[in-house]
Amino acid sequence: MTKQVTVLGSTGSIGTQSLEVIRAQGYGVSGLAAHKNTALLARQIEEFHPRRVAVADEAAADELARQLQGLRDAPVLLRGVRGLAELAAAPDADIVLNAVVGIAGLPATLAAIESGRDVALANKESLVTGGRLVMEVVRRHGVKLLPVDSEHSAIFQCLQDVYAEKSLQKILLTASGGPFFGKTREELAAITKEDALRHPNWSMGRKITIDSATLMNKGLELIEAVWLFGLSPEQIQIVVQRQSVIHSMVQLTDHSILAQLGVPDMRIPIQYALTWPRRVHGPAPELDFTALRTLTFDVADEETFRCLAACKKAIRKGGLAPCAANGANEEAVRLFLEDRIPFLKIGELVEGVVESDSFGGEYTLDDVYECDAAARAYVLEHL
Ligand code: NDP
Ligand code: MG
Repeated sequence: MTKQVTVLGSTGSIGTQSLEVIRAQGYGVSGLAAHKNTALLARQIEEFHPRRVAVADEAAADELARQLQGLRDAPVLLRGVRGLAELAAAPDADIVLNAVVGIAGLPATLAAIESGRDVALANKESLVTGGRLVMEVVRRHGVKLLPVDSEHSAIFQCLQDVYAEKSLQKILLTASGGPFFGKTREELAAITKEDALRHPNWSMGRKITIDSATLMNKGLELIEAVWLFGLSPEQIQIVVQRQSVIHSMVQLTDHSILAQLGVPDMRIPIQYALTWPRRVHGPAPELDFTALRTLTFDVADEETFRCLAACKKAIRKGGLAPCAANGANEEAVRLFLEDRIPFLKIGELVEGVVESDSFGGEYTLDDVYECDAAARAYVLEHL
C-alpha cells in the first residue's frame, strides 16, 4: 500500500518542500491544510487529489469552496481551527506532517496523536507550548513523533543505534548564529525587518527567519530537544556552526561524539521523517567537501541575544514558562514585522514575560491557551 501523508501548513516553506519529497517518493496525499493561501492550495489539490482539505481562515475557506465548485472528486472542505484538528485525526493518513507555524499547530498535533497517527513534527511550537501534554499522549497512544527540525532530526539519526541512545550524555545543538552573528547590541539597535529577513544559509518562512535572527529559534529548539529526548536543559549545549553543515551532535558516556552532516536542505530531514527507519535516494544534493574546506565553531552570545537566555530561563522554571516565552515572541515578531517595535525589543519582551511569574507546576490545555493569551497581552501592555 502507498504511504498516505497529510500535510498541515502545505502552502508554507516546509509544506511545499514536503510535497516535493512526497512527489519524489510517490506517496499519496490524504489531506492538505493552510491558513489563507487558497490559490496555492487549489493548485496542490489539483496535483495531489487529497480526500480532505482544511482552511483555518473562514473567509479563505469560502473562497476555496467557490474555487472547488464543479471540480470532479473535490475534497471534503473542513474549516477553522476545529477543521484542522479534524483533518489531523482523519483515519486515512499513515502519518501527519505538521508544518503549521506557531501555537496554531498545537491542537492538530494533539488530535493526530490522540487518533493514533504518527506525526512528523516541524511545528516546534507544539512542544514548546504544550510539551508535557504532547509527550503524555505520545506515550499513551504509542505513536511515533518524528522530528523534522534539522537539528532534532540529526540527533534522532545519531541515536538510531540503541546502545548510543542508552549512553547519551549530552546533545550538542548546532546553530548557524543567524545573520547578525558577532554584532553588538549597539549595532543591532538599528536592524530593519529587511535585514532580519535575510538568512545566510536557509530559506524559510518569515516568522522562523526572524526567530533565527534573534536566536529565539535556538531557544525554542533547546526546549523542543528537552521534550523529544527526555533530557535536562543542562545536558544541551549550543554550538555555533556557521556553515550549517553539522546539523547537531550527540556525546556519549565514553565521550565519543556522533554527528549528522549534509547540505543545509530541509528535504533531507523531511524525507527521513517520512521514510524512517528506511534510507532512500532523495532530491537533496551531495555535500562537496572540496568546496566547503572549513568548518568553524563558536559560542553563542546570550548577553546580546536575550531570547536565547530567556528560553533557557523558561525551561529551567518549567511549567508554562516556555509557553509564555513563545506567546510573547509570536506577538513581538508580528509587531516587529509591522515595523511597530525595534529588533532588540523582541528579546526584552520575551525576557520580561518569563520573569513576570513563576509559571511552575502541572497544566491543562486550557491553561496553555490562557497563558498564551496572557503573554500576548503582556507584550501589548509593555510596548
Ligand atoms: P511558513 O510561514 O512558510 O508556512 C506556515 C504554514 O502554516 C503555511 O501553510 C500557512 O498557511 C500555515 N498557517 C499559518 N497560520 C496558520 C493557522 N493559524 N492555522 C493553520 N495554518 C496556518 O512557515 P515555515 O514552513 O517556515 O515553518 C513551519 C513550521 O516549521 C514552524 O513551526 C517552523 O518553526 C518550523 N520549521 C521550519 C523550518 C524551515 O526551514 N522553514 C525549519 C525547521 C522548522 P498560509 O500559507 O495559508 O498562510
Ligand atoms: Mg532547526
